[in-house]
Amino acid sequence: MIEERDDLYGAASPQELAAETYENYKRFVNPPLARVMKLSGSPVEVRAEGATIWDQTGKAYLDFAGGYGVFTLGHRHPRVVEAVRNQLDLISLSGKTMFNVLLGRASRRLAELAPGDLEISFWCNSGTEAIEGAIKLARAATGRAKIVGTVDAYHGKTLGALSVSGRETFQSPFRPLLADSVCIPYGEASILDEALAGAAAFIVEPVQGEGGVNVPSPGYLRAVREACDRSGAIFVADEVQTGLGRCGYRFACNRDDVVPDVITLAKGLSGGVVPVGAFIARPSVWHRAFGHAPLLHTSTFGGGELACAAALAAMDVLEDEGLADLARVRGEQLLGGARAIAGEFPKVVREVRGLGLLVGVELTHEGYGGWIIPEMLKAGVTAAWTLNQQRVIRLEPPLVVSENEIDRALQALRGGVATALVKLGPL
Ligand code: PMP
Repeated sequence: MIEERDDLYGAASPQELAAETYENYKRFVNPPLARVMKLSGSPVEVRAEGATIWDQTGKAYLDFAGGYGVFTLGHRHPRVVEAVRNQLDLISLSGKTMFNVLLGRASRRLAELAPGDLEISFWCNSGTEAIEGAIKLARAATGRAKIVGTVDAYHGKTLGALSVSGRETFQSPFRPLLADSVCIPYGEASILDEALAGAAAFIVEPVQGEGGVNVPSPGYLRAVREACDRSGAIFVADEVQTGLGRCGYRFACNRDDVVPDVITLAKGLSGGVVPVGAFIARPSVWHRAFGHAPLLHTSTFGGGELACAAALAAMDVLEDEGLADLARVRGEQLLGGARAIAGEFPKVVREVRGLGLLVGVELTHEGYGGWIIPEMLKAGVTAAWTLNQQRVIRLEPPLVVSENEIDRALQALRGGVATALVKLGPL
């Protein structure tokens, strides 16, 4: 249990804190989001530790939305918090004109963990920025423009990443997007050669997260590697959500034993404490793009000492606590339990799929989710939609989640599914 605070961010009561926050959201943050969150009964988060978030009333929630994959280590892992606290007393953001010890160490450590000869990394602050960097690297390295992504992919919401994120709702108000960007069906090896002809890059998630947790057949990424070799396209594996243990492997592309040209990372690389993104590239590719122009792609905040201290601690914890292996074991428990619920309620749950602790529960109808997620919240478990598939509820708890916590979340899921069926009947 974490230390109790006797004040609630300065508010007199939990009710006042909730009212103040809602009013601020409604007026100053995002009015329609404020309404949706209020309707679904969202409380106010006030503190968190491990797999648990506490709201303003002191109620505890198991965090199975997991910040959409950020909290691989759980909230406020003590080793990350300590590393960040210690770093605050030295230097927190880089002055940029001098060498930065921790940027060097974090880059070296990432290269040690990454597959094959992936070696040179660029550090930024989010997943979408990592993708932007990878797109630029691919264009500069190949002298080609075309970027190929996959239908239902999610790579972020800046214009370049959005161009290959396959959801029309997110794209259409912003057209024209990046010229020469196309999305092809995910998981289909036979179409790769034709699609990648003349392409600068193929950007693909080893498991599509926001697309509804779509796990390709084993061997798909190997086929991608071979097709990229034939066409000369840069193979970018977007591991922002799947990387660093989430799928039961250090990197999900290890499942197919392939070495992409570039891996993008963020989410778990933060250690759940400081925003961090990065891409890591093979030297041969990196040099073709940036070898003669060290300032061609830069970020003021990227690679700051505080972020690198968090990332270094996160990578150490991942290895020392064997989190990738844990994710595999707990993932089987979660997947098995959710599949049993699907078997019991076929009218509500169409399919359950996943890899490691990235699990998607596909409903027969989008409408059920509107009941299930709030019901789970009432029972003290957070869960979330996938961004590109409103019919899929994702469960992605911290990799440090216990067996008992998974059982409790499954109970909440079962309760939510049963209630949705009673309330809505067959849809
Ligand atoms: N790539 C993938 C695979 C993601 O899942 C996400 C976020 N859900 C992103 C990129 C974008 O990351 P961010 O929100 O940090 O920009």
